[in-house]
Amino acid sequence: MSFAQLMLPEALIRAVTELGYETPSPIQAAAIPKLLAGEDVLGQAQTGTGKTGAFALPLLARLDPTQNDPQILVLAPTRELAIQVAEAFQAYARYMPAFHVLPLYGGQSYTNQLKSLKRGSQVIVGTPGRILDHLDRGTLKLDKLRAIVLDEADEMLRMGFIDDVQTIMDATPAGRQVAMFSATMPHQIRAIAQKHLKNAEEIKIASKTSTVESISQRYVMLDSNQKLDALTRLLEGEEYDASIIFVRTKSATEEIAEKLGARGYAVSCLNGDMNQANREQTIRRLKNSQIDIIVATDVAARGLDVERISLVVNYDIPYDSEAYVHRIGRTGRAGREGKAVLFVSPRERRLLRTIEHATKQPIEQMSLPTGQVIEQRRIQSFREQLAQTVENQDLSFFQALINEWSEKIDASDTDIAAALLFLAQKEQPLNVANKFPELREPHARGEREDRGRNDRSSRDRSDRPQRDRGERSDRPDRGPRQRREMKGDFNTYRIEVGKEHGVRAGDIVGAIANEASIDSQFIGNIKLFEQHSTVELPANIPTEVFQHLKKVYVRKQKLSITVDNSAASTPSTPSGDRRPSNPGPRPGAAPRKPRD
Ligand code: AMP
Repeated sequence: MSFAQLMLPEALIRAVTELGYETPSPIQAAAIPKLLAGEDVLGQAQTGTGKTGAFALPLLARLDPTQNDPQILVLAPTRELAIQVAEAFQAYARYMPAFHVLPLYGGQSYTNQLKSLKRGSQVIVGTPGRILDHLDRGTLKLDKLRAIVLDEADEMLRMGFIDDVQTIMDATPAGRQVAMFSATMPHQIRAIAQKHLKNAEEIKIASKTSTVESISQRYVMLDSNQKLDALTRLLEGEEYDASIIFVRTKSATEEIAEKLGARGYAVSCLNGDMNQANREQTIRRLKNSQIDIIVATDVAARGLDVERISLVVNYDIPYDSEAYVHRIGRTGRAGREGKAVLFVSPRERRLLRTIEHATKQPIEQMSLPTGQVIEQRRIQSFREQLAQTVENQDLSFFQALINEWSEKIDASDTDIAAALLFLAQKEQPLNVANKFPELREPHARGEREDRGRNDRSSRDRSDRPQRDRGERSDRPDRGPRQRREMKGDFNTYRIEVGKEHGVRAGDIVGAIANEASIDSQFIGNIKLFEQHSTVELPANIPTEVFQHLKKVYVRKQKLSITVDNSAASTPSTPSGDRRPSNPGPRPGAAPRKPRD
């Protein structure tokens, strides 16, 4: 299926084509026709599946360009996602004249937001707390709203925003269209869907289970901006004959092939823009070892059968498990062994689990080759070239030169050989053991969350006057399944806000997730006491993030976070307990495993 077949307007097709999209992702193919027809949609989709395009494109197609009031409202759990979604709208609407999208999130100055709101925007993307504030203040009007989108609804539930979401939904006009996307479908999310969606069909991308034996599967956890570095290290450190690198867009095939080419790799791209003759020629060159690497999109690599391919790199995560199985099936052909490596950003962790589940095989986390490994491989490859040259070349001309030089410059043969080696390795240095620092595994929310860090002086919900939210369900208890997803060492931390201040677990998760950019899945058990609370967080929180968290306010209380090592911290402890006399180790020291 193509974007043109989806009956999207010309301006949008042009924009996605320029972005390098070749075909709609499965969730886009399923959701776009329904949303275009004005229907409500409940989509079960994770980050990485193309869900943003699945709602943004059809809703943009239905926009009234002559009208400047908010017509589409997207609610997102974090400011970073709000920014990302707003950027996607902007990119898709590039050829729609007079289009405006406005992200609204906590921590940003109201003055700027008010100015932008006055100017008018057809699309508003915001975090629930800040949207509710603007509704309360009368600075955001939703009477012209045509559609509302709940993005990452389960994440909003987990962060304690669900009451706010309900209130906002109730404030929207009756006839508006609703699109709701969620990676999981807990009963609270289904209940909202039942209450607010009209005859919505649930769209779920079926994940066929299939097994892929004889292929070793590993993944690297990284931020997007680390991918190119990771790829070059991988290609240097791994043993392989030929490799195929999968990316999402045709522009990425060209860009990465060019970058690898500049680094000396024999590489070519393979994408849907190439005609059949070019495509066949590229495959032939791969087969007869004129090139060793191709950078391809899924569509272009369909059916590719080249025995030499022993390494598949999923540079961009595939949309679903079926695409993953297809991709890694390009290796391990004809009974050979194959290797597959998947790059995953923290936000795509869920998709990784879905793929593991569908393929019924664990994908092992791997670390990238270290500087020492790369150094050893470069030295070995140089030595092999040297040995071959000594054996196969007539070197008499050069030997005569060396004899002459050793006298003229009064240097030993070893000195001369070392100097020549020094000159010969300049392009690709051999002495690199310390030149490749270990990539720090991001425990944060990843690339899209890294922006806006500087202006997070307050959080949308914590700086608001206390509203009566009524008793809400808070964050559902983290069951054993979810706890198992939490990897690494955890510490219990104490924060100076408790039941007496009206705090609930959701407030704490929301504040820590937003202020420290710690994914909520890395926020473990929270226990509420009268005047303080405890929360389990990764032991390796960077010091600057920890210092920042100390100053964050929740329910008008400064968190003043410290490592808690008081054994008496159980919920049955009488209220009024004070900070333990020993404030405990600094973050990062003496990590403790989460209790189970
Ligand atoms: P999302 O799941 O919406 O966060 O999208 C993940 C990434 O996939 C983003 O970088 C999008 O630009 C990209 N993307 C979305 N749809 C397509 C498509 N049809 N073809 C290629 N890339 C896409």
